[in-house]
Amino acid sequence: MSHINNYAPVKPHDECGVFGFYNNDNFDIVSLTRDALYGLQHRGQASTGITIIKDEEPYSVKDLGIVSNVLTDKALEKLPTDGKISVGHVRYTMFDYLERAATQPLVMRYIAGSLALALNGSITNFAEIRHGLERGGSIFQSNSHAEVIGYTIALNRIGKDNFEQAIQNSLNELKGAYSMVISSPSKLFGVRDPHGFKPLCIGKLQNSYIIASESCVIDTLGGEFIRDVEPGEVVIIDENGINSYHNITQKITSLCLFEYVYLARPDSVIDGVNVNEARRRAGRILFEENPIDADIVCGVPDSGLDAAQGYAEASGITYATAFIKNKYIGRTSEGVGNDKKQKLLRMRLNVLKNVVDGKRVVIIDDSIIHGNTSAHIVNLLRKAGAKEVHMRISSPEFKYPCYFGVDLPEEKNLISNKLSVEELREHIGADSLHFLSIDGLHRIAEGCKIRLCDGCFSGIYYADLPMTIYEDKFASKIQNKK
Ligand code: SF4
Repeated sequence: MSHINNYAPVKPHDECGVFGFYNNDNFDIVSLTRDALYGLQHRGQASTGITIIKDEEPYSVKDLGIVSNVLTDKALEKLPTDGKISVGHVRYTMFDYLERAATQPLVMRYIAGSLALALNGSITNFAEIRHGLERGGSIFQSNSHAEVIGYTIALNRIGKDNFEQAIQNSLNELKGAYSMVISSPSKLFGVRDPHGFKPLCIGKLQNSYIIASESCVIDTLGGEFIRDVEPGEVVIIDENGINSYHNITQKITSLCLFEYVYLARPDSVIDGVNVNEARRRAGRILFEENPIDADIVCGVPDSGLDAAQGYAEASGITYATAFIKNKYIGRTSEGVGNDKKQKLLRMRLNVLKNVVDGKRVVIIDDSIIHGNTSAHIVNLLRKAGAKEVHMRISSPEFKYPCYFGVDLPEEKNLISNKLSVEELREHIGADSLHFLSIDGLHRIAEGCKIRLCDGCFSGIYYADLPMTIYEDKFASKIQNKK
């Protein structure tokens, strides 16, 4: 167990969506993979990519942008629709820029063949591994963790009998949080880190196999959910069907609790817990922990809506829709400057005056990072005539960084490290404010098959933390060249 300490914090990375398909039928694998990535779009809107393996050769389309912009019919014309394997990726980034070279799937051609890799996560010993590879002569095109992982696997493949052994050896070297889909020229692999930080599941569509970050994708494709990939498990799909082995599973696993609060889609089931149910439970617990008398309870779209329903169920207060969200604008925590974020916020949410005018309103959101969004929401409600505004947050206060692939600002920039709850209430202009307790957060995932991470709320991490700030330096070098 590691407590937050004086390790220099690295910059946060991406929270992404990964997908893989092994085609044992005659599916148009290109369209199918594009459909799957639409189902993962909420996990990343900075870049999109597909790699198709046909006759052991990889063919890719990838670029910066969302699925509909990158995977156009015209762009996809060059991919073989009768491929055997596909790997898909959507990426999120907190940086104001994203290098084109860092888009995934990462494809590498090396002496033993080729590999395609899609990563969701962050390697905590990135700096050490990268230094070692550079000293050995490796040349990198980006600062992406996927590239370091790809190199590690490719180097391990040389001198090993098969790709499975190369992955196994590589996983002994890699630390951190990662769920990956990897293809060799003839096999598809699903890999989940020994702590199980990121979700990954397996499904079946007729005789073909799916690996995806979230089960909602399997539903979208009309497939059947088989099971979650277990922490430390490597799943191998080839002409012999599906097999797996366990690398190392940590005694204390660490599935990211924020998946249930915000990251995942509500129609997904992760490690045995339905995300929609977890969010409703958060609402019920919020009422239990801090009951208040009000006329209506509303949620901030999207992840606050389920929690608001739970709050209404527990309290008997009428559930109402107070906000209309413009669905065509991305999540406001995307990597943009403050002015642009404010503008996006205004464009993204509008309030239904007829619903809130003259009412005592309980409003539920998933989190408070800087406080600007919450202040804006309270202000909107007041301007629309709300008599009282009681804000409830379906997660605890963010006080510590995430080292495991979820973008959070540095500790000093988290509003809960600057203001007490009462000061924050005053800052956002609400009549009352309550955050879900850490105990309550764990209760929302009751029945989860594995143990959960709450590091960014508690400061307690059950995995090794990064030891250096090498990557920050590397990233700034790239920025300076712009
Ligand atoms: S530190 Fe927070 S955001 Fe990061 S994995 Fe743990 S719960 Fe998730």
